[in-house]
Amino acid sequence: IPVDPFDLVIFGGTGDLARRKILPGLFRRFVAGQMPDDAQIIGAARGDMDDSEYRAMTEDAIREFGGRKVSDDAVARFLERVHFTTVDAMGDEGWAKLAEKLPPGRVRAFYFSVAPSLFGALAERLRHFGLADAASRIVVEKPFGHDLHSARALNRVLEEYFAEDEIYRIDHYLGKETVQNLMAVRFGNMLFEPLWNAQYVDHIQITVAETVGVGGRGSYYDKSGAMRDMVQNHIMQLLCLIAMEPPARFEPDAVRDEKLKVIRALDPVPAHHLVRGQYSGNGTHPSYCDDVEDPRSRTESFVALRAHVSNWRWAGTPFYIRTGKRLRARTSEIAVVFKDAPHSIFGADAGRHRNVLVIRLQPNEGMTLDVTIKEPGPGGMRLMDAPLDLTFADAMSPDADEVPDAYERLIMDVIRGNQTLFMRGDEVEAAWAWTDPLIDEWEARGDVPQPYDIGAAGPEDALMLMHRDGRKWREIR
Ligand code: NAD
Repeated sequence: IPVDPFDLVIFGGTGDLARRKILPGLFRRFVAGQMPDDAQIIGAARGDMDDSEYRAMTEDAIREFGGRKVSDDAVARFLERVHFTTVDAMGDEGWAKLAEKLPPGRVRAFYFSVAPSLFGALAERLRHFGLADAASRIVVEKPFGHDLHSARALNRVLEEYFAEDEIYRIDHYLGKETVQNLMAVRFGNMLFEPLWNAQYVDHIQITVAETVGVGGRGSYYDKSGAMRDMVQNHIMQLLCLIAMEPPARFEPDAVRDEKLKVIRALDPVPAHHLVRGQYSGNGTHPSYCDDVEDPRSRTESFVALRAHVSNWRWAGTPFYIRTGKRLRARTSEIAVVFKDAPHSIFGADAGRHRNVLVIRLQPNEGMTLDVTIKEPGPGGMRLMDAPLDLTFADAMSPDADEVPDAYERLIMDVIRGNQTLFMRGDEVEAAWAWTDPLIDEWEARGDVPQPYDIGAAGPEDALMLMHRDGRKWREIR
């Protein structure tokens, strides 16, 4: 279904994010028939460029990142919608020209794909030059602040010029197919919700493992670390969707109110429930410190922790979280591990079998439920775990092009004016309010992250974090 006619201005339209995600994502929505004929995409950035140069850059980006359905004809028709205007966020030139390109009475979206230090300047100039009207909205990228103080400051400056319902804070994890499917499975079925609590769930594991190192982002990453880069935002959002109470309606504030309650119910994490790590080098890859060119860096490239949501539903159920770089495999998943059946009628030989609901974000987005069944054949009553596939068939299609990328889905939500999958300002602040004391404490202690081997599952203490509780991490594969 096509969305309403719109104009999308991408500030930072020549940057890495625009080329890798935003422009190819828009192209794919165009190919899917979702973009009305007169939609307009305007790149805006510093530096001289005309429409044809920007179209050439966009075409290169589409051919590199646009997936498999890139036909010459589709590219040509898409590029007719693409324009460029030179604008300096900190200066006053170019704004009047940009304003002329925006017809009245249509949806206007301004995507801030620039450094957060420019957000305030952009918001101010959008108002000052009269570009923002009643149908305007702004999209802002992560990182949303470095701590509670800076996140508050960012919120205040944006709120000066835009209302909360005009601000779309992107966390692309929320745009993933399976993350939304998680809500459908939880709240669309009778089967799961009655069991979705401390009485039946033993624990929850959230893993976001990467095989890459910090790469070219070293100078940024070293000021951030895994806690700020992954836990405070992406993993927090996943935890919220797992732990939240059913909202009364699938509407932006109803959903976000429930997520906020989860963040506020999180206990502080004691030091012995938190492990920080840093990858060592091997013959092929440099160590973290070599990557960031600081031999004494104490920034973590890995973090594991045990969190508790202190409310009636989750009292006593640990949420184990781990994320890191240069780990064994690229895997993001949430596992809801149910308790053992109260009594085994099959005897000790049957072994231990548990129901585990696995929500896999990558690779191969999907959702499975391990169910205990009888091993087929004449071998007697032997039990085995078999996965039940809970994924809509299309999403499992080997043609990955069919599954919309998180960015394209979220951009279309911006155009439709649906904020459900975007973070509200108070959510972001609450998440920082939880991570800040952990970070402050290890900084005050002068904590040195533990080394771990490239290709491992993190430092030894991360394994111990669960072993101590008589539990085991799922394999990273
Ligand atoms: P980039 O450095 O590749 O591009 C920056 C863009 O901003 C360029 O188009 C540049 O011309 C423009 N710009 C810089 N100063 C400007 C000014 N004064 N006025 C107008 N335009 C100006 O950055 P990027 O990697 O595309 O990242 C953009 C934003 O998105 C950052 O906030 C980043 O943290 C965030 N982000 C990026 C990624 C990613 O994968 N690249 C992922 C998540 C979030």
